[in-house]
Amino acid sequence: MTNQPFFIDNVAFAKKNELLTGELTLAECARLNELLIHSSENSNSNSLPTGSISYQLQGKTDAAGQHLLDLSLTTHLTTTCQRCLNEMPLKLVLKFNYLIGDVSDMDIESTEVDSTDDVDMQQASKTMDIVALIEDEIIMAMPIAPIHNQDCGEIITQSGEKPNPFAALKGLIKP
Ligand SMILES: [Zn+2]
Repeated sequence: MTNQPFFIDNVAFAKKNELLTGELTLAECARLNELLIHSSENSNSNSLPTGSISYQLQGKTDAAGQHLLDLSLTTHLTTTCQRCLNEMPLKLVLKFNYLIGDVSDMDIESTEVDSTDDVDMQQASKTMDIVALIEDEIIMAMPIAPIHNQDCGEIITQSGEKPNPFAALKGLIKP
């Protein structure tokens, strides 16, 4: 566990089948923290958002020699219900699979992104920022207007299904 942003050489990480687990606090995720503060502006309570994020990052290499990263996240956050304006626990359970490659060298036309729809590309990097990655994924998975389940007393549990950013990109780049 660390209080600093940390970086990995993602290709080496995958090659060595490394495993990284830990927990981030909101203090380490400034952008996410800001988002949660913003969403609690109307809250009756003045308490600052609290919470933590458990993560597990597994590097691996597949049979074809491609380098992969599996990221699992579980958030234990507190946000504000946009209906009753009371505090609401927000638990997100997210899983992501990344294929590491040199995106700039890749022929987007011939890349079968659609056939591996659960896999996102990550640029090969010796200084991949894990905290920024985790933060980005959670921000994208956050509900825009979180509300309690019907009786305003239930814990909302969402399984995150992240839209593939390359699906949109592919349409733009196509000549
Ligand atoms: Zn509510």
